[in-house]
Amino acid sequence: VAEYKDGEWQELRIEPYGPMQINPANATLHYGQSVFEGLKAYRNEKGEILVFRGDANQRRLNESARRMCIPEVPEEIFMEGMRKLLEIDKDWIPRQPGCSLYIRPFVFAADDYLGIRPSNNYKFMILTSPVGNYYSKPVAVKVETQYARAVEGGTGAAKAAGNYAGSLFPARKAQNEGYDQLLWTDGKTHQYIEESGTMNVMFVIDGKLITAPTSTGTILKGITRDSVLILAREMNMPVEERFLAVGELEEALISGKLEEAFGTGTAATVAFIRLINIHGKDYVLPEKADGAFSTRVLTQLDDIKYGRIKDEYGWIMK
Ligand code: PMP
Repeated sequence: VAEYKDGEWQELRIEPYGPMQINPANATLHYGQSVFEGLKAYRNEKGEILVFRGDANQRRLNESARRMCIPEVPEEIFMEGMRKLLEIDKDWIPRQPGCSLYIRPFVFAADDYLGIRPSNNYKFMILTSPVGNYYSKPVAVKVETQYARAVEGGTGAAKAAGNYAGSLFPARKAQNEGYDQLLWTDGKTHQYIEESGTMNVMFVIDGKLITAPTSTGTILKGITRDSVLILAREMNMPVEERFLAVGELEEALISGKLEEAFGTGTAATVAFIRLINIHGKDYVLPEKADGAFSTRVLTQLDDIKYGRIKDEYGWIMK
């Protein structure tokens, strides 16, 4: 825990996990001025603890913070907090393949004040939890064309708590219909695929890897997305960062040109998509061919995360 008061961040302290007192007038409870991150620590075969791209999460937390009028968390506080927690929690990091320690840093407004204005006080906290694989089986997704997760000029590019709150209702509806997640479309025309609720999404059509660009500010700049694109270029996979129209996706499904579809995110790394619902119609994806890109890139990322192959990119923090 580190507190921000009188215009500066105070020294961090470690507190045991447990309930904390909160004033009913706490600004976050009412106005949602809160941002968070998610990353993982892995235990390799030698017993070393490896953190995947923690520096990227630290930078993204502060990008989100700026959008939400929250003071940036100094890099030293973020890194020292994480290091101290990992030291305490190291025995909780599972040894089983696919398992890891999830790390959740977050910052929230701490003023006890009912009124719409940026808070003067904040709390930065990190909590951790051992986790298994997020998705062990391929997922079914539904293209959402009624509700929006993000709009241009909004907060879609920030990892802001409210983005997730606004997504719950349509996501729950889709779950009740039997789908695991939504594929959000752009908030204006609902014609272009953006991302899913917790993952960026990628498609392999006609041998090309296609994923939405982040330039509109409506998509979270996924760290897994960035890693997969770097590895794809390394594997000489043609990459197109462009919007994919729902109609083009449907055509590719009908013509059989859609070879693979998958989500990328910290939780699942790569989650294979087996079914896509478009305008009420379910399309089942073809069986994945041997040597499919998504399988190869997942193996490579896992090998890097668990320290089984050399980390050429400086992604691993020990
Ligand atoms: N999009 C959204 C909306 C997310 O919540 C996440 C999870 N952080 C992602 C994409 C994937 O980002 P990352 O690869 O950094 O986990």
